[in-house]
Amino acid sequence: AVWVSEIMLQQTQVATVINYYNRWMQKWPTLQALAQASLEEVNELWAGLGYYSRGKRLQEAARKVVSELAGQMPRTAEDLQKLLPGVGRYTAGAIASISYGQAIGVVDGNVIRVLCRLRCIGADSSSPAVIDRLWDMANALVDRSRPGDFNQALMELGATVCVPKAPLCGECPVKQHCRAWRRKLFGKPTPVPDVEDCGKRLGRSLCPLCPPATEPWDSSLGVTNFPRKAAKKQPRVARTATCVLERRGCHGALEYLIVQRPSSGLLAGLWEFPSLLLAQDLQEEKQREMLADHLQAWMGWPVVAGGLQLIGEVVHIFSHIHQTYVVYSLTLDGDVTLDPALSPSRWVTEEEFDASAVSTAMKKVLGA
Ligand code: SF4
Repeated sequence: AVWVSEIMLQQTQVATVINYYNRWMQKWPTLQALAQASLEEVNELWAGLGYYSRGKRLQEAARKVVSELAGQMPRTAEDLQKLLPGVGRYTAGAIASISYGQAIGVVDGNVIRVLCRLRCIGADSSSPAVIDRLWDMANALVDRSRPGDFNQALMELGATVCVPKAPLCGECPVKQHCRAWRRKLFGKPTPVPDVEDCGKRLGRSLCPLCPPATEPWDSSLGVTNFPRKAAKKQPRVARTATCVLERRGCHGALEYLIVQRPSSGLLAGLWEFPSLLLAQDLQEEKQREMLADHLQAWMGWPVVAGGLQLIGEVVHIFSHIHQTYVVYSLTLDGDVTLDPALSPSRWVTEEEFDASAVSTAMKKVLGA
């Protein structure tokens, strides 16, 4: 249960996760049950939660525990990280400390913020030197007798008190130890002999933990001077033409054709409307022709570009891609034979579509 919740909570808010978590634990309450699930079932339950490879790897890891580790979960952070797909350093530390009482720290976004403020660490908080030092600090600080509670308390402090924009320093239980808070109160850095020495030895600007000399303390920001982040990378911009193919099914209900994505890469194994990645700045006429050719090759049926009806555009932001779907629709009469060698496909009613392993982006497309 701790493992499942930690994986679901990566990059996702608690409020979003709760229903997914409850449904997952009800369906697969044990490792053995999860090991027997199919990828299709996992994707269906995960649909809408994002970062789909997380569910896939959870299931792969459950299989590995059952088939290769005699059903026994590894019990140390080192083994969890080494042996289980999808378990990184943070998740391994969280499982080992919360479930097995191992005295090991964790570093997540909340902990980074709290520790950088506590110790006025002003170098880029995503740099390897800072991250290594934060792990050392977390491992040194963790309570030996209640490591799981300590780690959860530190993360909770970051989530509720030492928040990114307006931290509640006056109510903070560790304010007496906090260098950023003292600096805000007294206007100058607390003398720290070892850091001073290190600064002198290395030359101030070279210290891997100090703020760069070019970005001194900004008194209007107070404690939120820390942590410092590297400039965010701009997401990649992509355009995809997608076609909602529809027909009247044998019971008169509208049906839509969905196809399955490849089993690796973005949205692996999920279902979508037939889609085609477009070059940037393509004229609408050209887009239409390319999409018609794509559908024709795949259905073995003549598709006239002019028959594709442009519905509009749907924008969906993935973590690193700013994706625009140019949505077309086409109504088909009669039966269509699809080439199964190209990709698995099936006709679904709207209800079946909602219950399928489709991404949030495709639900937006159908609603367009
Ligand atoms: Fe964060 Fe303020 Fe507490 Fe320091 S005193 S840890 S900045 S909330």
